[in-house]
Amino acid sequence: MSSVQQITVLGATGSIGLSTLDVIARHPERYRAFALTGFSRTEELYALCCKHKPSYAVLPDAASAQALERRLREQGLTTEVLHGEAGLCAVASHADVHAVMAAIVGAAGLPPTLAAVEAGKKILLANKEALVMSGALFMQAVKKSGSVLLPIDSEHNAIFQCLPVDYARGMAAVGVRRILLTASGGPFRQLPVDELENVSLAQACAHPNWSMGRKISIDSASMMNKGLELIEACWLFDVAPAQVEVVVHPQSVIHSLVDYVDGSVLAQLGNPDMRTPIANALAWPERIESGVAPLDLFTIARLDFQAPDEVRFPCLRLAREAAQAGGTAPAMLNAANEVAVGAFIEGHIRFTQIPAMIESVLQAEPVRAADSLDAVFSADRRARELAGHWLSRR
Ligand code: NAD
Ligand code: MG
Repeated sequence: MSSVQQITVLGATGSIGLSTLDVIARHPERYRAFALTGFSRTEELYALCCKHKPSYAVLPDAASAQALERRLREQGLTTEVLHGEAGLCAVASHADVHAVMAAIVGAAGLPPTLAAVEAGKKILLANKEALVMSGALFMQAVKKSGSVLLPIDSEHNAIFQCLPVDYARGMAAVGVRRILLTASGGPFRQLPVDELENVSLAQACAHPNWSMGRKISIDSASMMNKGLELIEACWLFDVAPAQVEVVVHPQSVIHSLVDYVDGSVLAQLGNPDMRTPIANALAWPERIESGVAPLDLFTIARLDFQAPDEVRFPCLRLAREAAQAGGTAPAMLNAANEVAVGAFIEGHIRFTQIPAMIESVLQAEPVRAADSLDAVFSADRRARELAGHWLSRR
């Protein structure tokens, strides 16, 4: 293998995927896009393949994969186009790959991310839903294969940077009292509560500080994103839900903090641009330029903090309860949320019905042990089924 690191980007056509390719393209002497995967945005994947000339691309079905491969041949490119979950798992675990950016949104990202873990790859984890669903199994697989797991979520990357540098090599983080997980509060932090019922899709997607994919933008508006991140933090940093405190910080400049037993509180700051955590994880333990502008504290001038409002944002409470319940509860929470967000996007339910649907699903089914992938996926399927019943009963 040459010294250029081969990177598979799962979800290359998305917001995180594109930011990852931007950082990769800044450092051709260090990184090459080995495989790029897409789902519905075939044209975007075609353009990305023309630009980055990966060895592999992946699309969901055989027909679209063949069509893409034909077009790439016409351009003189040798990119092989695979398809389906098997294609995703193949490029995630390929012998030539050094690191895998896991940036598929939702439960669909779990199988290829786990395949990368089992193959012992360096994992750059953006796909929080994968960890939320299968936390215990996922972390066991990381230990077993010796994968280095580096968080991309800005908060978790911040926490990671505030822990001892050997943390990613399996060292325990000694002396951590609490994790302070910052949240912007999203677009509805100050909206009168009685107006939440009538917010539109465009309003829910208009995040004040971050530009992101649609699902995570809606999760940020409901604060389910922070709930999923709370569960993510428990698995990544081996802490109990009670040790994670959510702090609303509207400027999104402090990306999270670690409170140590001696009273030291370490924070990571930066402009809200995902290229910072992506560059941090790609180069870890080194540092590389990311294209992000330097932080200007004089322009920011002030940093504010507030306690989260769980009455306004019931999703946060539901996620904390699922974290405490453990077992299959987080997988059910995640699946019900995916259905609810999809129904909100389609205009079938109101914004305020997102937590109502999730709560009803969680109450309808007992929590089981999440001791196998079958158990996790069967909880995922059951939650989607119950969410479907809830929708049709309304
Ligand atoms: P996005 O919607 O912009 O992109 C999603 C990607 O996943 C696309 O490439 C799409 O083709 C692919 N995809 C979607 N459904 C798929 C399926 N069924 N099978 C295979 N591929 C599929 O989303 P995003 O904002 O880039 O977020 C990606 C992940 O990163 C999410 O889990 C999100 O929570 C996490 N994340 C994103 C940000 C951010 O700033 N965007 C920050 C932190 C964490
Ligand atoms: Mg985040």
